[in-house]
Amino acid sequence: MKRVFDETKTENKQNLETETSGLNELEISKAYQSIGPDTSENQPKIGIVGGGLMGLVLAYRISKLGAQVKVLESESQTGGLSTYYDFGNFQWDKFYHIIMPNDASLIRLFEEVGLEDQLNWNRAYTGYYANNSFYPLNSAKEFLLFPLLNLWDKIRLVYTIFYGSRISNWQKLEKVTVKEWLVRMSGKKNFEKFWSPLLLAKLGDNYKRVSGVFIWTYIRRLFKAREHPVNKDYMGYVNGGYKTLFNRLEELLNENQSSIELNVKVERILSKNGAGIEVQHSNTTEIFDKVIFTAPSSVLEKVTTPELCEVIKKDKPIEYMGVICLVLTTRKAITPFYVLNLGDGKTPFTGVIGISTLVDLEQTAGEYLTYFPKYIPANHPYWAKSDEELKEVFLSGMRHLYPNFSEEDILSVHLNRAFKVQPLHVINYSELIPEIKTKHPDFFVLNTSQFVNSSVNNNIVVEHVNEFMHKFEDELKIAQN
Ligand SMILES: Cc1cc2nc3c(=O)[nH]c(=O)nc-3n(C[C@H](O)[C@H](O)[C@H](O)COP(=O)(O)OP(=O)(O)OC[C@H]3O[C@@H](n4cnc5c(N)ncnc54)[C@H](O)[C@@H]3O)c2cc1C
Repeated sequence: MKRVFDETKTENKQNLETETSGLNELEISKAYQSIGPDTSENQPKIGIVGGGLMGLVLAYRISKLGAQVKVLESESQTGGLSTYYDFGNFQWDKFYHIIMPNDASLIRLFEEVGLEDQLNWNRAYTGYYANNSFYPLNSAKEFLLFPLLNLWDKIRLVYTIFYGSRISNWQKLEKVTVKEWLVRMSGKKNFEKFWSPLLLAKLGDNYKRVSGVFIWTYIRRLFKAREHPVNKDYMGYVNGGYKTLFNRLEELLNENQSSIELNVKVERILSKNGAGIEVQHSNTTEIFDKVIFTAPSSVLEKVTTPELCEVIKKDKPIEYMGVICLVLTTRKAITPFYVLNLGDGKTPFTGVIGISTLVDLEQTAGEYLTYFPKYIPANHPYWAKSDEELKEVFLSGMRHLYPNFSEEDILSVHLNRAFKVQPLHVINYSELIPEIKTKHPDFFVLNTSQFVNSSVNNNIVVEHVNEFMHKFEDELKIAQN
């Protein structure tokens, strides 16, 4: 096996200034800082279903308007998909999470809650694995040396990425399959050699049903990061992982007479015919003036009634890709890349995420942390396997990829699952999503399935909340009158 990259952890570190001024959407978020809570007894009572990032940021924003907010979360800790996990000697994100330099709304949120000095930025390296070799892909020179494509194919690939990043009419892309679009843009050979292995790794056979929007959202997000004037090759993290943000949001909520209730699985949401919204959970009934639902759309369908909101085309429900993720803590680094894309079609995971190439080792008790995720649909046979069986499947893939890595250097092995992660952007996906404003004036839906032209990421989560507040702030206040 050929190694093309020196396997030493990069020392290239730098704290970087965040550049967040001049964006309208950010001005919206700033505006909320100046409004203090109304502590009068007439505070409207707002219920939020789901204590992931969406639910918590929303709760924080609404609590600042003077409402009394209660977040109902089914799990035993906050954070949803961005939650934390106990790796033994330290806690870190259950699933790998990075911040891009152009995640302006997210960075602004960190500033707003006083955590800007907790952000760190490091150089991020990307690799591609195929034909038993690792290829770094971080500069024009490395790209030109990439042996799997000839010069003409490379020119077409660059053209696809550049042209794709400039497209704004995503509605057109929603009408063609990702394969049709990529073959048209990049050519058949590029599709077979470069794109198809990546799509198969990420979506399995489902890629055949997915529209061009899927790949366009990734191209655009990555390209925008590279256009950043200062820190284009950098990625960020917050000291202590996302748990730091969730703890801070909880603190601020408590200061604003609002609260989070854990281990509360919402089972039913009903209209009280002009007297608010009833939420049923754990043999209890609570009445709120308004309720905002932030959990996945598949849950929405189960807990609401048609008079509250008719959400999804019954014959075409939103399908979600889930993720199963092996996580290793090790004495030595496994990979020099933040992300290694796999183009060999043989490994049982989608990629390798070397989070310790970015995150300082003192954050993880001196241990290297590496994630091996596999994105799969709801009907994949992996869901039926036990954690022990899956660990063995994934570890055999890891041994195939890194035969020289000594197992004695593995300190701990973890297996995490999330069933609903990324809605599948099938053809005409935007016709399937639930409206934010439902049939009922006191019930709203705000969730990741509404990201019709973006991948699921925390920057768009914050943007979505900011836009919601901008549009519906007045309606949230109605109950005060
Ligand atoms: C493997 C992986 C890697 C990722 N990497 C990145 C990254 O690098 N950068 C980035 O920006 N983003 C990343 N993301 C995406 C990020 O995790 C999401 O953008 C974010 O967590 C979505 O938050 P949310 O609150 O909208 O949804 P969720 O996190 O899904 O929150 C929904 C909440 O609702 C709760 N809930 C569900 N049903 C009920 C019920 N009946 N009653 C009460 N509560 C209920 C759930 O428990 C959950 O807490 C990644 C995600 C994954 C899985």
